[in-house]
Amino acid sequence: MFKDLLASKFAEYQTFVRRRMVEDQIAARGVRDGRVLEAMGKVRRHAFVDEYLRTRAYEDHPLPIDEGQTISQPYMVALTAELLELKGSEKVLEIGTGSGYQTAVLAELAGELYTVEIFPSLAEKASAALSAQGYRGIKFRTGDGADGWPEHAPYDAIVLSCAAPAVPEGLFAQLGPDGRLAAPVGEADGPQKLTLFSRDGAGFRERSVADVRFVPMLRRRDR
Ligand code: SAH
Repeated sequence: MFKDLLASKFAEYQTFVRRRMVEDQIAARGVRDGRVLEAMGKVRRHAFVDEYLRTRAYEDHPLPIDEGQTISQPYMVALTAELLELKGSEKVLEIGTGSGYQTAVLAELAGELYTVEIFPSLAEKASAALSAQGYRGIKFRTGDGADGWPEHAPYDAIVLSCAAPAVPEGLFAQLGPDGRLAAPVGEADGPQKLTLFSRDGAGFRERSVADVRFVPMLRRRDR
């Protein structure tokens, strides 16, 4: 009884804190897309971190997850999602599943979701967290995301949550005719720019959106 009451109070509190997060960290910094704000208010970030970090889940920064990786800052997830201009029916490829948090946000915004993670342990944990949160039909792959997931291409949007000095060429080939790709571009310890690539005739238009700091894209040999 007491445990149930505590759980329901905790859920109420998390909803309140999440609403504050959306207002103070996301809308206040200029994210306008109503669907993105709604998704950020809905997805339970605390369900994607370890128990000891639950009370800190709505803070304005990344938090540690296993394998020396991080769950992205909420604002970065929102900003990236807004760049993709998702309407609801898109097929999206995410590189760097990590905790599964951004995966959940993208699942709220798109039609079909494919996600690739290089660490099997993270992919397994994320998959369990996502299904515990009621997300169904997300397709997971363990491997080097630099290769994308050609079997399911083309994608309407591709998002990288790990930084590389240049976006691997193969990923562009997996984008559909009006495809958009958002990625942190830069060296591991150097300056990085969140960059949006969108189709422009035969090539791509490139726009630098913000200075960012993401964990680096690992290659098979790094691990
Ligand atoms: N969006 C995730 C962010 C995780 S951090 C979240 O909110 O939890 C970036 C992730 O990219 C890490 O989990 C890391 O293991 C993964 N990663 C790094 N290099 C990769 C690669 N080459 N292919 C796939 N995933 C990679």
